[in-house]
This record gives sequence, C-alpha cells and structure tokens, in this order.
Amino acid sequence: MMRSKRCPNDNHGRMVVRIRFCPSCGEVLNKDIVASPKCPDDAHARMRRSRSTYCMDCGAGLQQGSPAGR
Ligand SMILES: [Zn+2]
Ligand SMILES: [Zn+2]
Repeated sequence: MMRSKRCPNDNHGRMVVRIRFCPSCGEVLNKDIVASPKCPDDAHARMRRSRSTYCMDCGAGLQQGSPAGR
C-alpha cells in the first residue's frame, strides 16, 4: 500500500485498531468496524476539540464544518 503523504497518526502502525477512520487523514483503518451512519454534533464537537481532522466513526471532515446542515 502506498501513501503519497505520511500520516503522523499512530493508529496506522498498530495491529489492532478500534476505530474505523483515521482522525488525522480520514483513511479507513479498520474496515471491520461499521461506520456510524450519523454522529451526534456533540461527538463531532468533542473530536474537533481534540484536534481531530476527521471523525473516527463516520469519516466526516470536522474542520470544514458540515456543508449539508441536517
Ligand atoms: Zn491517517
Ligand atoms: Zn462522525
């Protein structure tokens, strides 16, 4: 597998990953974990505060805000 840019997130090197999406690059880390169809705004707000770029549950970009509101 080749990646053009290196992601600093530790989860890429781990054998067991408990999240589906990488919070730094949005790449799927563990496809066995079912993605959340919809996360509460609360959860996204918390992840944004912990400096995640992407939601680790649904893969949504957190920094750009949500384009389609509801
Ligand atoms: Zn990553
Ligand atoms: Zn989410």
